[in-house]
Amino acid sequence: MSNTQSQIGMLLIISGPSGVGKTTITREVIKQLNAQFSVSMTTRPQTASDTNGLDYQFVTEDEFKSHIANNDLLEWANVFGNYYGTPRKPVDTALASGQIMILEIDVQGAIDVKQNMPDAFGVFILPPHEDVLLKRLRARAREDESIIQKRFQKAKDEITMAKESDAYNVFVVNDVLEDAIKQIVDTVNAALAKRNR
Ligand code: 5GP
Repeated sequence: MSNTQSQIGMLLIISGPSGVGKTTITREVIKQLNAQFSVSMTTRPQTASDTNGLDYQFVTEDEFKSHIANNDLLEWANVFGNYYGTPRKPVDTALASGQIMILEIDVQGAIDVKQNMPDAFGVFILPPHEDVLLKRLRARAREDESIIQKRFQKAKDEITMAKESDAYNVFVVNDVLEDAIKQIVDTVNAALAKRNR
């Protein structure tokens, strides 16, 4: 874990189940808060909509394991059989320079980060109804039906795990996209103002 105890920036964790609109929300929150985005490392195959180095840093399993061994990762998790992890150095650099660093990570990762960096601010995005997730997962037509069903089950488990954990400061329902974005931006600004008082 990081030694960024004297953090002056903000570590902002954004999590939510697959299909909840997390990526769209995160992109807009980054713009509105002038935040940095933590580019995760992953062993999952790159899809047509991914840009290497921008959305993820795609690596082999051997490369990923050597980053774990070198303690280069702030946290990591195995999701759907693939490794995902947050490179430590960019986080330390952003926080030391007072910036907001956004980690778009799963619940296991969020719990891990929050335990070690309790000042991190956790946002969990919820769907208005579970059925909405299944529809959205199918609509993006990125995977075949068996993967979609796996992601849907994980999504439901993830919501339960998130609610039972202490990792999240706020739960935001993505019903109307603009409202969800505004709620996150306002809540983060309020938390920042409180810290700086
Ligand atoms: P996807 O493959 O759909 O982009 O991401 C799958 C899941 O992995 C999502 O829940 C996403 O938030 C999570 N994830 C992405 N990067 C990281 C990371 O660095 N660490 C952890 N723990 N989860 C991640």
